[in-house]
Amino acid sequence: MKNATRLQYLEAMGIDVWVPRNSTQAEVLYAVDEKIIRDIDTKPGSVELINEKWAILEKQVAECKSCGLCDSRTQTVFGSGNINADWMFIGEAPGQNEDLEGKPFVGQAGKLLTEMIRAIGLSRGSVYIANILKCRPPNNRDPSLEEINSCNQFLQQQIAWVKPKIILAVGQVAAQALLKTNEPLSKIRGVCHQLNDIPLVVVYHPAYLLRSLLEKRQAWQDLQLANNIYKKIK
Ligand code: URA
Repeated sequence: MKNATRLQYLEAMGIDVWVPRNSTQAEVLYAVDEKIIRDIDTKPGSVELINEKWAILEKQVAECKSCGLCDSRTQTVFGSGNINADWMFIGEAPGQNEDLEGKPFVGQAGKLLTEMIRAIGLSRGSVYIANILKCRPPNNRDPSLEEINSCNQFLQQQIAWVKPKIILAVGQVAAQALLKTNEPLSKIRGVCHQLNDIPLVVVYHPAYLLRSLLEKRQAWQDLQLANNIYKKIK
């Protein structure tokens, strides 16, 4: 959407627009803050408005400097897929390929995740995929608690807007962060958890499965568990 059109929309909705002095209309920077998003959220949502609020959130993420990862990232990795999806997959953090391409799960692990999604009869485009962190930790180290906490607001907003019927926590790090636990994956897989009243199933990370195919059978069982839960609630 052009800035001028966006401006008209926002003004028509009674949303304050901040125009920097010395700027032309084409250069208008509108207030990218929670208020705009809240205001858009409370109005009846046309597709354009819904896309607009997602664009605002994505811009907030792209400009985020809340933790040190902003210094080493090539770019942020917001999330991708169907914003109205019933299924939401949440991984850990971008790796090297994702950092370069700006999309989640695009490397080898991503190809296996796509196969896992297909295994439950879905296409990659029909689900929504995001990560706990939007920036790549250097050398793919585990995210720190501080990084997880400062990125959490973005993920919570994504979950609130997608309103998935089921969440799959992809891998131990994502599962531990979402469920606020230190239990190993082996202890938290195979059952249905709840995250804000949304059923959540923990699945093996595809990068782990690529290294250790011994868990393939369990990985399949976890996907079936998720599918059975989904069929009951949909
Ligand atoms: N691993 C993740 O957890 N997320 C990605 O996006 C890529 C690899």
